[in-house]
Amino acid sequence: MTAIFPIITIPDPVLRKEAAPVERVDEELARLAGDMLATMYDAPGIGLAAPQIGISRRLIVMDPAKDDAPKTPLVMVNPKLLERSEEMRMHEEGCLSIPDFTAELERPARVRVAFLDLKGEKQEKELTDIWATLVQHEIDHLNGVLFIDYLSRLKRDMVVKKFTKAKRAEAL
Ligand SMILES: [Zn+2]
Repeated sequence: MTAIFPIITIPDPVLRKEAAPVERVDEELARLAGDMLATMYDAPGIGLAAPQIGISRRLIVMDPAKDDAPKTPLVMVNPKLLERSEEMRMHEEGCLSIPDFTAELERPARVRVAFLDLKGEKQEKELTDIWATLVQHEIDHLNGVLFIDYLSRLKRDMVVKKFTKAKRAEAL
C-alpha cells in the first residue's frame, strides 16, 4: 500500500530548513521513497523532495517522463552536486510547493551528482537536459532554497505575498 501525502506549500517554514542527512537506508526509507513517488505522480509533478511533505531529510525523487512514456523514476538519498557545467540551459520551472506559478530560469546544463541508492550503495551520475535542471531544483529544496529565490526580489516578494494572503484566507 502506498500513501499519498499532502504537499506543503509556501510560506511553510519547513521548506526553508536545511534538511538532515539520511543516516540509514533501510526498508522504511524505501517505503517513504515509494510514497513520495506516488505522491509526485498523483500531483502530478516531475520531482519531489522530502521537505515538501514535511520530512526534513535529504531524500529526493524524480521522473521527467511524459504521461504516455514509460516511467523512469530515480531516487537519490543524500544527493550532492560534484560538478556543474559552465554551459547553461533555460527551463520554465514550476514547483509543487508553489502551485500555479512558473518562471524561466537558467541553470548549469550538465551536472555530476553523488548519492546513495535505495540499497545504500554509492552512485555517481552525470545528468543533462531536463534531468540536470530537475536534480538542481530538488537538491535546492534540501537546502531550503526555492526556485523563486533566483528571481528578482520584486517578483519573489509578489509570489510570496500572494501565498501568504491565500493561507490567511484559508484560516478563516
Ligand atoms: Zn520544487
